[in-house]
Amino acid sequence: MRLTILGSGTNVHPSRAAAGYLVRTDQPILLDFGPRTLANLIKTGINRHAIRYILFSHFHADHFSDFITFFFDAVYYSKFIGTREDLTLIGPRGTKRLFNAILNTFPGFKSAAFRVSLREVSDHSFWLGRTRITPRSVEHSPRLHCLGYRLEYAGRSLAYSGDAQYCTSLLHLCRDADVAVLDCSFPANRPGPGHMHAEDCGRVAHEAGVKHLILSHFYPIADRHNVKNQAGRRFRGRISLGRDLLKLSL
Ligand SMILES: [Zn+2]
Ligand SMILES: [Zn+2]
Repeated sequence: MRLTILGSGTNVHPSRAAAGYLVRTDQPILLDFGPRTLANLIKTGINRHAIRYILFSHFHADHFSDFITFFFDAVYYSKFIGTREDLTLIGPRGTKRLFNAILNTFPGFKSAAFRVSLREVSDHSFWLGRTRITPRSVEHSPRLHCLGYRLEYAGRSLAYSGDAQYCTSLLHLCRDADVAVLDCSFPANRPGPGHMHAEDCGRVAHEAGVKHLILSHFYPIADRHNVKNQAGRRFRGRISLGRDLLKLSL
């Protein structure tokens, strides 16, 4: 399994794209699609028209807005340039309402030369090819259903928190994971609501028995503090700072 971070920041950040991750197992899978991550996806050199599955954690703009640009491009491509694979959009409650609204707003989408399937998931595992996906509801925003995802392939496991505050479901999501990419929006001395700060991330990694913790989803203020050291107060394993286009094999 290979992970490429497409975005390690948030909505507005001077040097990082917002949330987005490319995971390559027996197929490419996108986790979230925040602003500026499409440009980084193109830099990876992957054929974007071969991507069939996108998993969304929740529908704050920093996790999905580049999908709209991606989709306009995909429709244009399929009509005038080449063949595109069918697309399946997977996410929490609200996935169908949001994407049906987008598709219905732009009549040109109806004539796309590929199919779009919408799938709402909750806390049950399913398979995409030979990749096992386990969504978990996490606590982030009281008005939104928010998911983290665990991906397992060829005996390796990757956990992605989405946006989340410390909660027991995160511990289940991350249990013994080879790699956990966690929402480290804030430094420990400047926490914010609905997200983890660096020490929370270390606590989750420690309590869940994670092997390698990757801190990501930094608000600008997190970049002004040593969040790696702060996470290390709670976790003795390997810790990496996420950055755009960071690649990792696991
Ligand atoms: Zn959010
Ligand atoms: Zn976010």
